[in-house]
Amino acid sequence: MKDPVCGMEVDDKHDSLEHKGKKHYFCCASCKWAFENNPSQFEQS
Ligand SMILES: [Zn+2]
Repeated sequence: MKDPVCGMEVDDKHDSLEHKGKKHYFCCASCKWAFENNPSQFEQS
């Protein structure tokens, strides 16, 4: 899966966050933080 913030490939051991029933994975806490603060900016259809 892909980190929606920076586009890096990440695996399911990374930090995750559930948003609208979909699980997103992040390479680092700062990407997770960015998504959390503005999910609509990074959401993929
Ligand atoms: Zn990232």
